[in-house]
Amino acid sequence: MRTKIIAGNWKMYKDLAGTTELIAGLTSRIAASPARATVVVCPPFTSLALASTLLKGSPVRLGAQNMSQHDEGAFTGEISWNMLRAAGCEYVILGHSERRQYYGEKDELINAKAKKAIASSLRPIICVGETLAEREQGITDRVVSTQIRGVLSGLSRSDMSSVVVAYEPVWAIGTGKTATPAQAQEVHQMIRKLISQLYDWPTADATVIQYGGSVKPDNAAELLSQNDIDGALVGGACLKPDSFMSIISAAK
Ligand code: PEP
Repeated sequence: MRTKIIAGNWKMYKDLAGTTELIAGLTSRIAASPARATVVVCPPFTSLALASTLLKGSPVRLGAQNMSQHDEGAFTGEISWNMLRAAGCEYVILGHSERRQYYGEKDELINAKAKKAIASSLRPIICVGETLAEREQGITDRVVSTQIRGVLSGLSRSDMSSVVVAYEPVWAIGTGKTATPAQAQEVHQMIRKLISQLYDWPTADATVIQYGGSVKPDNAAELLSQNDIDGALVGGACLKPDSFMSIISAAK
């Protein structure tokens, strides 16, 4: 049985005051109604240390939204794995479509970051997904398979026990357009099959594959009830404690 992971990607929202407010809202709700899923919040870098302090004693885990592939050095603006670990992170989102689209991140770089994260005991949440044009051309499986092969290249079976895959169709992120549960399930099943071919069935069966793309309180339950959907990576709806909590509660 895979434990579902519901992760909130705060993107570039929430200063320190906003972080305090959002975490207080979330932890009080979770204390009143314990989650059956693993819950992760991924605030901006500047809020990580504060969030870690505020989350002490709570089951909510902490993640970052990106990480350098390097250990340290003259890399202005970058953040290393040891900085994330020191700030209390256990997870890191890698290869989000916004990183791919606006910062030119490619599978090879995301793969290097994933290797560094795993070696540093951070669980990478590795994002893949097709654009609208690619879906309309009927090449979703080809695009997502190429991404999966690229981002997992050189990872061992034991490395895979740390990996979380997030299938996020680019056309569904922040647009209000969600993949139907059947569309999402089809791609998740394809990803799991591919992982079984690259590794073996027990590895594929144990891999957590999240769905992301306009997950909201009113569509979460149906998405999360699909056989191969093991959680959600949530953007907009994680910024309000009530809507994030409804999504968390939808994970049975
Ligand atoms: C995301 O940022 O990963 C995401 C899925 O955003 P949204 O839920 O707003 O579509």
